[in-house]
Amino acid sequence: MKIVTILGARPQFIKAAAFSRALKIYPNIEEVIVHTGQHYDQNMSDIFFQEMDIPKPKYQLNTGGKSHGAMTGQQLEKTEEILIIEKPDIVLVYGDTNSTLAGALAAVKLHIPVVHIEAGLRSFNRRMPEEINRILTDQISSYLFVPSEEARKNLLNEGVDKNKIFVVGDIMYDVSLYYKKKKVKPIWFDELNIDKFILCTIHRAENTDVPHKLKNIFEGLSTSKSPIVLPLHPRTLDKIKKVGISIPTNVFIVEPVGYLEMVWLEINSEFIITDSGGVQKEAYFHGKQCITLRDETEWVELVQSGVNILVGNDIRKIKSAINNVQFTCIDNNIYGQGNTAGQIANFLEVNI
Ligand code: UDP
Repeated sequence: MKIVTILGARPQFIKAAAFSRALKIYPNIEEVIVHTGQHYDQNMSDIFFQEMDIPKPKYQLNTGGKSHGAMTGQQLEKTEEILIIEKPDIVLVYGDTNSTLAGALAAVKLHIPVVHIEAGLRSFNRRMPEEINRILTDQISSYLFVPSEEARKNLLNEGVDKNKIFVVGDIMYDVSLYYKKKKVKPIWFDELNIDKFILCTIHRAENTDVPHKLKNIFEGLSTSKSPIVLPLHPRTLDKIKKVGISIPTNVFIVEPVGYLEMVWLEINSEFIITDSGGVQKEAYFHGKQCITLRDETEWVELVQSGVNILVGNDIRKIKSAINNVQFTCIDNNIYGQGNTAGQIANFLEVNI
């Protein structure tokens, strides 16, 4: 069987690390990787292929740094060309980026079944580009692998055939379990001269693209008594420069880090502040409280169980959350047992 896997952005490389590893015990499955180039910097792309042992992409597209329409359009066109050449049995996509939607659309129009890993998640905020990508991809996928019961319900509510939905847990839990033994302290960490710290990431368009929201977030962060380490996404850096936001003295901005360093930072932080989908779950996997810089989240189970608190970009809420963190201990199997990639690989081997 031949799978064409479409990757484009950082969280997809990380998920692919688990699935490509799981495929190693299935010699009958050939995986061809297409990298759309949505993320292309060394520290947003190459480092993950190097340190996580992800197979080298056979096709490297150059669709990054464009508007949503231009990027998705080019990805659609170029992926279609590749699928016509490769003639795979299935196309596999992850998550909710433009590359996910373009890959799924190119495949379905050629009558190639689409496998969507991390299907069924909803923020119910259609202003998020990711929400549009998720909804449309789920509608045209043949095999929808969902991380939770909640995600299954979302799909059923949208009329997806129940026989296409498989609850398999979260593939990022596989990744967290595997790489926590391989974590690496960043070489620059000691130079910061801090011991306790809060880890923060900010990159969601709803925060970065509205200047007063981004300013509010930094004002909220300035109220923290502990230092904050912030590996900064290139999009956020760009907006900070354009808007002219001054960085509070308790916030240490560093370049985006590789996954092994990220895991070290997560595990050694006091707690985590983020607007990332993946980092919210990793906080939970590593037993850290999470303050989420969004008004809603797809990972509702974490909010319901008290390990994640939503503060949006409201300065008062951010301040209050940062200075009143209460640690909540909960069952760590909300998203399965850490064998999601193996279950999916086995399913494909048996059924396709
Ligand atoms: N991540 C990383 N280095 C960083 C910031 C994040 O390796 O400097 C990892 C993080 O651990 C998680 C993934 O990137 O696994 C999350 O990606 P991102 O926040 O870009 O996207 P989202 O999950 O919000 O779609």
